[in-house]
Amino acid sequence: SSSSSSDMVKAIRVHELGGPQVLKWEDVEIGEPKEGEVRVKNKAIGVNFIDVYFRKGVYNAPSKPFTPGMEAVGIVTAVGSGPTGIQVGDLVGYVGQPMGTYAEEQILPSNRVIPIPSSIEPAVAASILLKGMTAQFLIRSCFKVEPGHTILVHAAAGGVGSLLCQWANALGATVIGTVSNKEKAAQAKEDGCHHVILYKEEDFVARVKEITSGSGVEVVYDSVGKDTFEGSLACLKLRGYMVSFGQSSGTPDPVPLSSLASKAAFLTRPSLFQYVLTRDELLKAAGEVFANVVSGVLKVRVNHTYPLSEAAKAHEDLENRKTSGSVVLIP
Ligand code: NDP
Repeated sequence: SSSSSSDMVKAIRVHELGGPQVLKWEDVEIGEPKEGEVRVKNKAIGVNFIDVYFRKGVYNAPSKPFTPGMEAVGIVTAVGSGPTGIQVGDLVGYVGQPMGTYAEEQILPSNRVIPIPSSIEPAVAASILLKGMTAQFLIRSCFKVEPGHTILVHAAAGGVGSLLCQWANALGATVIGTVSNKEKAAQAKEDGCHHVILYKEEDFVARVKEITSGSGVEVVYDSVGKDTFEGSLACLKLRGYMVSFGQSSGTPDPVPLSSLASKAAFLTRPSLFQYVLTRDELLKAAGEVFANVVSGVLKVRVNHTYPLSEAAKAHEDLENRKTSGSVVLIP
């Protein structure tokens, strides 16, 4: 199916919201790219927790049925009219909206397509667009991590967490990470966590206080949400930053503003997509991530690959905390 004519390709489709079993392997029709569009044959597809939120309805998909997925890398097989700057045969990546990367092939707006350096493997590239660019905006824009800072990263062995810890360490921060088991703790240590807390067994607030001699951390990067939010606030230093960027354990309870007062704390709930709105922002963020991969600052852990048709199994493992590093689907 590498021709540019209208034909059928396989994709994962969601007709009804629910558990991993609602991910169905089906034929979908794919047309020719129109003006400003390109057609891409995917080589590697990144699985992200956001895909679970859409599948379950924590976030609302624009319509049903839909093809999930927000991160992939592939080869351009056809280019629509107009100046796209992209050629057939280019290796490109893409992140974010429109959703639909869980497919053998897809049509994309050319202004969201990112050229991938040839030295980066597709499965690696498909792990650093959404996950790597998230690490990038979190520690370089949202709160700028500097040498001497002490930071707390929850789910430190996860897809985003692994990259965040490596990068923050390279920036000169003292990194405290939380993980659920010993294997993940060993990985987090390798990824530059100076202190690892097993948050299922230990009281992470007490441990952070102990590690920081009572003063707390400059910033908490909290993607776990419900189970950690309150404790994360308690880990902050005076005028510290609470960055709540996900809810793997569920949506955090509403926070009274008064809970920020005793520390004059800052609270933000950012999303990558507000940090890479323009093409310039997108390419700058991607370029910074690629440079860090090429130079070896970031070692990308593609710890789990599944055939695209088995996306349901990938979701099950991600949701059950069985994965570490990144999860990739191969068409
Ligand atoms: P991860 O690989 O980090 O997987 C989630 C991890 O969260 C698990 O491995 C687990 O680690 C931990 N966790 C803690 N409690 C639970 C729970 N109850 N159920 C499941 N997992 C739990 O996923 P990603 O790297 O894809 O994403 C990480 C987080 O970052 C997600 O919350 C995601 O939504 C968010 N995100 C936000 C973005 C934004 O722009 N705001 C962009 C990208 C990601 P452990 O076993 O160690 O506890």
